[in-house]
Parts: sequence; structure tokens; C-alpha cells
Amino acid sequence: MEIKTQTLPPSQRRTRPDDQQLGFGRIFTDHMLVMPFDAKRGWHDPEVRPYAPFSLDPAAMVLHYGQAIFEGLKAYRGRDDGIYLFRPLANLERMNRSAVRMCMPTLPVDTVFAGLKALLKVDGDWVPSADHGASLYIRPTMVATEAGLGVRPAQEYLFYVILSPVGAYYPEGFNPVKIYVTDKYVRAVPGGVGEAKTAGNYAASIMAAVEAQQAGYTQVLWLDAKERRLVEEVGTMNIFFVFKDRIVTPPLSGTILPGITRDSVLRLLADWDLPVEERSIAIDEVFAANERGELQEVFGTGTAAVISPVGSLHYRGQDCQINQGKIGELALKLFNELTAIQYGRKADPYGWVI
Ligand code: PMP
Repeated sequence: MEIKTQTLPPSQRRTRPDDQQLGFGRIFTDHMLVMPFDAKRGWHDPEVRPYAPFSLDPAAMVLHYGQAIFEGLKAYRGRDDGIYLFRPLANLERMNRSAVRMCMPTLPVDTVFAGLKALLKVDGDWVPSADHGASLYIRPTMVATEAGLGVRPAQEYLFYVILSPVGAYYPEGFNPVKIYVTDKYVRAVPGGVGEAKTAGNYAASIMAAVEAQQAGYTQVLWLDAKERRLVEEVGTMNIFFVFKDRIVTPPLSGTILPGITRDSVLRLLADWDLPVEERSIAIDEVFAANERGELQEVFGTGTAAVISPVGSLHYRGQDCQINQGKIGELALKLFNELTAIQYGRKADPYGWVI
């Protein structure tokens, strides 16, 4: 499919704010990629056009029954001024798995990728400079636009991609976070939609996150729904535990998001000959190992922060400080390695960077 392009005249284009003033997800670029779907024509007329609000029927099915999926990835500006994407096809493939689970149409990956590149060409100036750890966050989204009430798969959808320049995740330096382990709420159940990146999962997580933040914690760590004992994942990150003799991360059992950063970290750890286990791990095992002095580090992995060292875990009124609240050696090494590959500072032996 040919990508049509309709751009703003230079006089109407805005300039990107200072890298230090970006924050996360508050500013959007001048253009977006849009592609509609209907049952008759399928996906059609992909177009890069000026960023603007949509007009949506009040009966649009997404507003009632929540058929909405999205993705999150980043573009980085390299030292050579080139624009680098990190494993973008992995995000599009995950989006298609989410689409299947939510009875939404799958995307033509080649067309979407060509459209994304066309969009990045038009808004290339919005990719922040390499020097301050800033990047351009990319948000592909798909929603059901058919007007009608009644719970069933919609016949019409809109796919779009918006771009948001974001500041460094750690403006004051790489910092450990405090995590609240909840056994009051659960995020996902076996047979549910936990492994899909669908809007409802995030809506359902907000109450636990608000309560954790009110108590002084950054994010929630979820436990399994059945026993409320096995570790699942953190807010928008997968989680890794570094013990004296092995590294453990929960398996992709259907209730957690298959993180692309998680997958990349597993690959690096294997290449560094470190023993890793993808297996169920109980929160009690984590606390017991920490008491014995055998838990060296805990860190989260995700696109936004890349690697996020965990300084403490709070569970059932008990606080467990990890590595004296300091940044772990392995977390730092992984952060440096992944960001070096993402910004093109280091050769990429994996074919991850485009
Ligand atoms: N879990 C959840 C629930 C998330 O929203 C995210 C962010 N996409 C992740 C894990 C990490 O995934 P990724 O490494 O692909 O960003």
C-alpha cells in the first residue's frame, strides 16, 4: 500500500522544546500516521497527516466495550545524527498478538513499518539530541470506531501512530525505586488478557497504583491471581531477581506482558554466560533469600526506563531493602549495554537496531 503524505507548511510547524523540559508523554509532534479499517476494504489509505483530534461517534464501540490496543517503542538519535529504532518489528508482532486476543484485525506489518518510517522522516527533527538521554516515544494504537451498541467484534477500526519526545527517564541519574507488593488487587488471571497490551489492563491497574503512590511507593508489583504468592510483573515492567548463584524471572505464562526489554536482557545474560531461570518465584522466596543475604539485586525491565533498579520491596507491612538500597552492578551493566546499542554508540551484534 502506498503511504500518502500531507504535511504542514514549515511556517506552521512547531519547534521541539529543550530536552530538559520534555518530561514523559506530554508533548506530541506535528504529524501522525493514520490508517482506517472496515470489513469491506480491510486496511486502506494509510496516510501521514498533521496531528489533530479525531471526530468519533459517541456510540463508537471502543468507548463502550474497550476494544483498544497499543504499543510503546522508542526512536533514538545516534551520535552520527541517524535515527535508530530498537526492535520495532517485535512491537508490531506483539501488537498483532494483542489484536488476535481482542478480536481485532491484524495489521499489515510491512505497510505499518513503511508508514512509521515515513512519519519519522517528516517529524525527524523531533527526535531529541543524543546527549541528554532523551528519545522519541512512539505510540501505535488501534481502536474500534464502529458506531453501535452490543458486545461483539466491531467492523470498523482506526490504527494510528503518534510521537512524543521524552526526556531522560533518570534526569538526576540512574536511581533505585521503591516497590509496593500488593495482595489486595490482581492484574490478570489465567485465561484472561494479561499478555495483551490492551487498554483495560491499565485502567484496572490504576487503583492499586494510586494506593501505592499514596503510601510513598513508585509502582506496584503484582502477584498471581490464584494463590497471591507468585511474582508476576511490576506496573509497566517485567522483573528480574539476582541471587548469589542464579538470576530468576517469572515465565511467560499468559498473565504477564512479554516484554521486549525482558527478551533482550535474557539474550544478553545468556551471552554473558550467566545462569538464568524463567520460572515461577514466590514472594516469600525473595524475602527469605534477602534475609539470608543471598539476594543481590532486583531490577525491572521496560521500554520507558530500560532498566530500573529496585531499592526496596514492601509486602504485608514488611520492608525489604535490597542491596542496601544501592544500584546493583548487573543492573548498571545491562543499562549501559542496552542504551549503548540503542543509541548506536556500540556495534549491535543482534540485529536489533534499525
Ligand atoms: N509489562 C507491562 C504491563 C508493560 O506495560 C510493559 C511496557 N510495555 C512491560 C511489561 C515491558 O515491556 P517492554 O520491555 O516491551 O517495554
